[in-house]
Amino acid sequence: MVRVKQFIRGALLLEFVSAFGLAMRYFFRPKVTINYPFEKGPLSPRFRGEHALRRYPSGEERCIACKLCEAICPAQAIIIEAEPRPDGSRRTTRYDIDMVKCIYCGLCQEACPVDAIVEGPNYEFATETREELYYDKDKLLENGDRWETEIAKNLAMDAPYR
Ligand code: SF4
Ligand code: SF4
Repeated sequence: MVRVKQFIRGALLLEFVSAFGLAMRYFFRPKVTINYPFEKGPLSPRFRGEHALRRYPSGEERCIACKLCEAICPAQAIIIEAEPRPDGSRRTTRYDIDMVKCIYCGLCQEACPVDAIVEGPNYEFATETREELYYDKDKLLENGDRWETEIAKNLAMDAPYR
């Protein structure tokens, strides 16, 4: 009986020493956690975040209302209406994305021939109501204006692999 007790005590001590050693090893290693939202981790240039509609440097909308993004969207989250302008160019009069339906597959971005609709780097767009996640054209263009620098940089970084 005494031997069994000694054996158990020895095993527990061994366990403790090994756990303590493991804890100490990680205590002195660089931390893998970050203090979000004050610190943020790196993002891939291919990260698929909040949608944005881009403009050309002249300020003109890139979107030519071809509706390829609407057709390819597997969640049917995009609704587009279009009309020709007086100058003959075709532009959207309505561009809505239901972000609640969206599955962030990135197919709209892949289909767009003019890099107009993109999934940008923003992932902090949680809302308190569902209605706020029904994005219209103004909201999407505003996102494009806000994130254009990062979006253009990410597209340029990814371009050699396409
Ligand atoms: S990311 Fe996918 S699901 Fe979302 S709008 Fe684009 S095509 Fe539709
Ligand atoms: S965002 Fe691109 S794919 Fe969609 S309608 Fe405009 S030009 Fe076409």
